[in-house]
Amino acid sequence: AKATRLPGYCFYSCEMNESAAAKLRMQNLLKNAIEKGELVLYYQPKISASTCRITGAEALVRWNSAELGMVSPVEFIPLAEETGLIVAIGEWVLKTACAQLEQWNRVFTGHFSMAVNLSPRQFADSALIPKIIDIARTHEISISQLELEITEGALMHDPVTATEALHKIRAVGAKVAVDDFGTGYSSLGYLKRLPIDALKVDRSFVSGLPDDGSDRAIVSAVIAIAQELNLRVTVEGVETIEQLNKLRKLGCDELQGYLFSRPVPAEEFTALLRPHGNV
Ligand code: C2E
Ligand code: CA
Ligand code: CA
Ligand code: CA
Repeated sequence: AKATRLPGYCFYSCEMNESAAAKLRMQNLLKNAIEKGELVLYYQPKISASTCRITGAEALVRWNSAELGMVSPVEFIPLAEETGLIVAIGEWVLKTACAQLEQWNRVFTGHFSMAVNLSPRQFADSALIPKIIDIARTHEISISQLELEITEGALMHDPVTATEALHKIRAVGAKVAVDDFGTGYSSLGYLKRLPIDALKVDRSFVSGLPDDGSDRAIVSAVIAIAQELNLRVTVEGVETIEQLNKLRKLGCDELQGYLFSRPVPAEEFTALLRPHGNV
């Protein structure tokens, strides 16, 4: 070793290698996660602000890894994005969510929607629409029951291309919601032109309700814009009764959050339907 090495250098570089190695290991394990059956979907209810009934579910993926234990999507979705694995994972999510939707259609009375998160890569995938059509046919669900959630950031990165892709999605009947709305610096001019159905207000604006004046102003402004543009407003991250009451007063359409339920496995979700008057 060279004597001129700065003190601390090795420590620093070893630590970097360690996290790079951990990332590589996770990437390699993730490649086999689908075929090993390690991915699972949890479902979180969306609640109608006016009736308090369940209007649908958001499917949220988890990775139950034999080697790593439960891994949060916050950790592995970005890795899957980087490697392109997200396309296969996203397809598994769509199929699994639609298979579940088919089950719930048998017990559920009234319209029930299934929201699935779409990553930027899937969104750009030209095979997405044929895949959706194929999956919907296999599972005898209506494509109009599917709501694809795309983050504001992903849409605004290239609004022209995004607009084209959104038109195709909506042409086959699927709904589109802008996820994490308020965090991606949307231009209101683009918002007006984007072919979308709903806005999901990011939960960072909900945590300060009902007391924080600026959170209140932001949420009521978003609701006003949405009403003007004929968009549905879903608010996520509702954790308290006080937030619920405030949001109902402000006039949002749908609510989602730990107050009603955390994301739960399918069987537990089914058990939520009766107490909410859905079956
Ligand atoms: P997201 O789409 O914004 O999903 C909402 C996240 O907020 C979920 O975290 C959910 O569990 C959490 N959440 C729901 N209600 C509350 C609440 O009242 N309080 C708090 N503090 N949190 C709440 P989760 O399941 O860990 O997912 C994190 C992110 O991972 C998602 O954020 C989404 O961006 C991504 N993700 C999850 N599943 C998928 C998927 O199938 N495909 C893609 N592309 N991304 C996914
Ligand atoms: Ca989402
Ligand atoms: Ca969100
Ligand atoms: Ca988020």
